[in-house]
Amino acid sequence: MDTYHVDENGYYGIFGGAYIPEILYSNVENLKNVYLQILSESSFQKELDDLLRDYVGRPSPLYFARRLSERYNCRIYLKREDLNHTGSHKINNAIGQILMARRMGKTRIIAETGAGQHGVAVATVCALMNMHCVIYMGATDVQRQALNVRKIEMLGAKVVPVTGGNATLKDATNEAIRDWCCNPSDTHYIIGSTVGPHPYPDLVARLQSVIGKEIKEQLKSKEKRDYPDYLLACVGGGSNAAGTLYPYVNDKRVKIVLAEAAGKGLDTDFSAATIHLGTVGIIHGSKTLLMQDDDGQITEPYSVSAGLDYPGVGPLHANMAQQGRSEVLAVTDDEALAAAMELTRTEGIIPALESAHALAVFKRKTFSPDDLVVLCLSGRGDKDMEVYASGTKSQDFKNHPKK
Ligand SMILES: *Cc1c(COP(=O)(O)O)cnc(C)c1O
Repeated sequence: MDTYHVDENGYYGIFGGAYIPEILYSNVENLKNVYLQILSESSFQKELDDLLRDYVGRPSPLYFARRLSERYNCRIYLKREDLNHTGSHKINNAIGQILMARRMGKTRIIAETGAGQHGVAVATVCALMNMHCVIYMGATDVQRQALNVRKIEMLGAKVVPVTGGNATLKDATNEAIRDWCCNPSDTHYIIGSTVGPHPYPDLVARLQSVIGKEIKEQLKSKEKRDYPDYLLACVGGGSNAAGTLYPYVNDKRVKIVLAEAAGKGLDTDFSAATIHLGTVGIIHGSKTLLMQDDDGQITEPYSVSAGLDYPGVGPLHANMAQQGRSEVLAVTDDEALAAAMELTRTEGIIPALESAHALAVFKRKTFSPDDLVVLCLSGRGDKDMEVYASGTKSQDFKNHPKK
């Protein structure tokens, strides 16, 4: 029995669904009716596979991290999504969705972005496909991710800074949804993670599942079996994790350990650990766990990592955690910064701050020497150099508008 993939009504257990304003109903309904068919068309698959290979650079390597393995006394492989064109796994989804948008006759693309990685990926594929592109980004993130803003603009897209809330990912998403409501017929909204109304979480998970499928193939040729003992990934909305574990969710030999952002700590007011701190509610069209106060007002999230700074989580992850299928650790800013430095000095790889949260799991859990551990290294650290160079995020912390 498959309890972890989406059911025919768009739910994962009690989570998911499509809670959307009336004006978006036909758009979301249309996407729901066509996405599985388009994904299965051989002409679509061929175009997608060609671009993933020649444009993105797939398959991404599965790298045996020898020194890290020695340090933690187990066998560690890194799935190198950091080597993709544009520097993270986000491009896998952006390419798939823009090909889908073209087949649906859309001419204009909108997207939200936090760290800017999704914004860069979408602006990139829009340049490639000659589509009009608008990226919504929280004003706080516009400041702390200046390099990605420059890239998005150079690629020909418009960046709209959003000033509501604490001007981060949640607020950018609200604004993108507002835009879509005003332009429902010509515009496709490329959501950047496994969040939003059904069918988005499933669509994004399927487009990212190339990560897990490649892991399977690569393990088969490098090891004597095609599954690991552990899969590790970080969770913001949950797309790199979902793609990594997609082929393995119903395989109980594979243990799943995920890292969400604890920010300054679970017992502080500065956290983005949705699965630990969240309660059931509706955000951005989906029923899921979210950080909210007793009145149902969404709590402002905080993480050193802009890509994990989100008060909700994909419904599939809410369900897997609730069912006990995944173990979710809340990793603090300081743990992530230390893990980023450690990977840099042991393997010569500077990871994205998001991915560093997953790397911090090695300090928390003990593995045995025979354990085969695959970690999704979701992105590279170029965008985070200012944080790494200063060694702390204290400046942003002081500017945090809450309390
Ligand atoms: C956006 C991002 C994340 C978080 O998003 P998910 O949908 O949870 O994967 C993680 N790592 C990197 C490098 C990102 O850019």
